Amino acid sequence: MAGERYDVALIGGGIIGSAVAMGLAQRGARVVVADIDLSGRLSSSEKNAGGVRATWWQPVNIALCRASIRYYESIRTEVGFRQKGYLWLYDEATWPQALAHLELQRSLGHRIETLSAAEVNRRVPEIDRLDDIAGATFSPDDGLINPNLLKEHYRRIARAHGAVFLDQVFVDAAAVEADEVRLECWQAESALSDAELARLMTEDDRGAAARGQLIELRATAVAITTGAWSDNVLRLFGLRNYSESVRRQICIVDNRATNFAPYGMIVDTSGLYFHNEGTHILAGYSPPDTPPGHHFEYDGEPFFLNEIWPRMYARMSCCERLRHVGGWAGLYELSPDRSAIIGRAAPRVFEAHSFSGRGAMQSYGAGQALAELITTGAYRDFEASALGRERFETGALAPEELHI
Ligand SMILES: Cc1cc2nc3c(=O)[nH]c(=O)nc-3n(C[C@H](O)[C@H](O)[C@H](O)COP(=O)(O)OP(=O)(O)OC[C@H]3O[C@@H](n4cnc5c(N)ncnc54)[C@H](O)[C@@H]3O)c2cc1C
Repeated sequence: MAGERYDVALIGGGIIGSAVAMGLAQRGARVVVADIDLSGRLSSSEKNAGGVRATWWQPVNIALCRASIRYYESIRTEVGFRQKGYLWLYDEATWPQALAHLELQRSLGHRIETLSAAEVNRRVPEIDRLDDIAGATFSPDDGLINPNLLKEHYRRIARAHGAVFLDQVFVDAAAVEADEVRLECWQAESALSDAELARLMTEDDRGAAARGQLIELRATAVAITTGAWSDNVLRLFGLRNYSESVRRQICIVDNRATNFAPYGMIVDTSGLYFHNEGTHILAGYSPPDTPPGHHFEYDGEPFFLNEIWPRMYARMSCCERLRHVGGWAGLYELSPDRSAIIGRAAPRVFEAHSFSGRGAMQSYGAGQALAELITTGAYRDFEASALGRERFETGALAPEELHI
């Protein structure tokens, strides 16, 4: 690889790096993507709940998600896009906030209905405990996607346009020069263990973590697409990290007594979200007091018993006999205002990370936007200038709802 020079080197090949690679390669750029684990065992893209929606608070987030949804519609079979909507239940405290954003969401073309508690019950008869529901929204163009298939789709198109994906390659040092960026990397001889991966990407003292063949990558520009691990790469460029990584857990629950297959994502007033997943239910809940950090332990049965089951049973009497099947934990990458950080970070250095739980659903729009910026110097069809890192200095924040 030494001596080869690319137009753009991407660090991180999760769903975002893959989407940016596709956008760049489609525009004729020579692209290389370096990732320490392209299979993404610890990456957020592999831990995702598959929700896709455009019911956000910021025009930029609505627009990027709507552009993504239109694209997912065009490849729906390949990526398992099931446009069954988002049904979102609100209580007295949160309903006014939901109503306050409807006009903006509708003005940007996103269809969204409001429902009374009785209408919720008619639409989803399983939801039969309605006392605290002040209202609900249903957005029929939203839905569920298979994030792994989507990532593979981006990679397939990127490769077809000449992009190169390097696996087991860790980017260890960087130098930005007058006419190019040089990345010092090493390629591991075999796959690293989860513990080695976590240590490499989070600790200053990388210890005796495996090293392999040294590689130098040279490119005109570099893009940082390292998700919840971005701190380890931002510091190579002397860039401030504004975000923090927080564990999020998902339960897989036996669904024999119920059938949620006709519905898309359902979000309860309690913060619980769930949807049908094959013969099971995928259910998530994020305790608001979860401390930041790169933690991956799944709490298992106690998480199901303490957080998931009580919320499901409190809303639906048919969920009395739910059974815990399994689950996992992954990382959210939370920016201070809960919107992604996309743009030019420094001369020759670009970034797209900190998607704050929105990375899969926004990946197409974000990937195209960054590709436009890198290849033409400006946003054109995909506008994301509100998401540049400079907003944390100027105060022009893009505050967004976080589904915790
Ligand atoms: C439980 C859970 C549920 C979620 N649900 C949803 C949802 O329903 N809808 C939605 O849109 N989003 C959801 N998200 C968020 C979404 O998964 C993320 O926003 C998205 O996956 C981020 O993708 P990424 O490519 O930026 O990061 P990642 O997928 O984490 O990829 C980053 C890559 O960078 C690599 N890397 C890091 N450092 C280096 C280095 N120095 N050298 C080489 N490689 C490096 C890593 O190996 C990794 O592959 C969820 C997240 C979690 C954890």
